[in-house]
Amino acid sequence: MDFAWSDQQRELLDAVDRFASEQLRYDMIENDRNAVFNHDAWKKCGGFGIQGLPVSEEYGGLAQDPITTVAALERLGYGCKDNGLNFSINAHMWTAIIPLVYNGSEAQKKKYLPGLCDGSLIGGNAMSEPNSGSDAFSLATTAVRKGAKYILNGSKIFVTNGPIADVLLVFASTDKAKGAAGISAFLVEKGSPGLDLSHKIEKMGVRTSPMGEVFFEDCEVPEENRLGKEGAGSWMFTRSMTWERGCILAASVGTMQRLLETCIRYANERKQNGQSIGKFQQVATKIVDMKMRVESSRHMLYHCAWAAGRRKAVYLEAAMAKLQISESWVRCCEDAIQIHGGYGYMTEYEIERELRDAIGSKLYSGTSEVQRNIIASMLGL
Ligand SMILES: Cc1cc2nc3c(=O)[nH]c(=O)nc-3n(C[C@H](O)[C@H](O)[C@H](O)COP(=O)(O)OP(=O)(O)OC[C@H]3O[C@@H](n4cnc5c(N)ncnc54)[C@H](O)[C@@H]3O)c2cc1C
Repeated sequence: MDFAWSDQQRELLDAVDRFASEQLRYDMIENDRNAVFNHDAWKKCGGFGIQGLPVSEEYGGLAQDPITTVAALERLGYGCKDNGLNFSINAHMWTAIIPLVYNGSEAQKKKYLPGLCDGSLIGGNAMSEPNSGSDAFSLATTAVRKGAKYILNGSKIFVTNGPIADVLLVFASTDKAKGAAGISAFLVEKGSPGLDLSHKIEKMGVRTSPMGEVFFEDCEVPEENRLGKEGAGSWMFTRSMTWERGCILAASVGTMQRLLETCIRYANERKQNGQSIGKFQQVATKIVDMKMRVESSRHMLYHCAWAAGRRKAVYLEAAMAKLQISESWVRCCEDAIQIHGGYGYMTEYEIERELRDAIGSKLYSGTSEVQRNIIASMLGL
């Protein structure tokens, strides 16, 4: 593994740094309180090329390899404090764009990818249901073929970007008797007859990333909007999930780096008993632990992306990176609050929000328990 960036990579990463710190810094306290999604920032990211980082130029992307992509997203997380926007972008990239890149027909790629890359379209992924979460393939939503259409019935829950989505990748059973092998995937467009995206869900963190329940009542989807073959849905989901686990928390590594720097500054400035609190060993140790978590998270992220870029199987590496980064992020936020004392608990200091934003990372894209199950199974347990 080469630890040096090429001139071209360095140029892109510096440009993302500048873009995020100059164009994506806005008042997050109010936006978080009111759960405001920043459409303008989304469009700016599309204009810069963030959403299209891993997509080939032919479809409007920047054609970056996985390691450059995750490093760019890390810079986005460092410069942009809107973890909700970053999460919406990542959900869109890994759960809508990537399945299209790998499984879309030429017509589907031409129709959707340019808009999904340039910020004019918003995508998402609807798999979870009220009775199927970690056991995703036990879903109940059905898709029945009727002439040149499928008729979808059922509902999805916890759909990131659901209320603002232009197109959702929806998983439904086309053959119940076949279980997971009977699941198919569909690109369902906003405005499809029988589709209801209006049910927003309030949540604890990443509040600027809209989430909703989605209902299908005799929802009509044209046959040409099926992604891949009938019955290939669970295989496609597993493949895109590996990408998602490996990459979705890249921005969080940048967020952790920013938090670490904030804590070092504060520990040097804040004085108690006539000295900087950073001179107290128990405070310094927390900062050292934060540093260790940031570095180990970054290495696992880069290693997974490096291996994926060499077309190696990264099922294990992706689960390990997801587990390491999510748990590190939560613990870094807890330490950051403790280091800031009572101030860290107050909204104004913008650290309590980071903790609320971080906690969800132990739940989405497979809970920490599910990541541990994967790692155990890969170890032959
Ligand atoms: C912020 C956020 C965004 C999300 N975005 C999306 C989205 O865009 N699209 C989408 O489809 N879904 C989304 N989800 C849903 C997410 O994928 C599920 O919440 C997750 O898969 C867990 O499912 P569940 O909530 O039903 O919990 P359950 O599966 O019911 O789990 C409950 C508890 O039991 C544990 N558990 C379950 N099974 C096992 C097992 N086999 N071994 C050990 N422990 C187990 C879990 O780890 C957890 O602690 C999102 C969730 C969150 C929080």
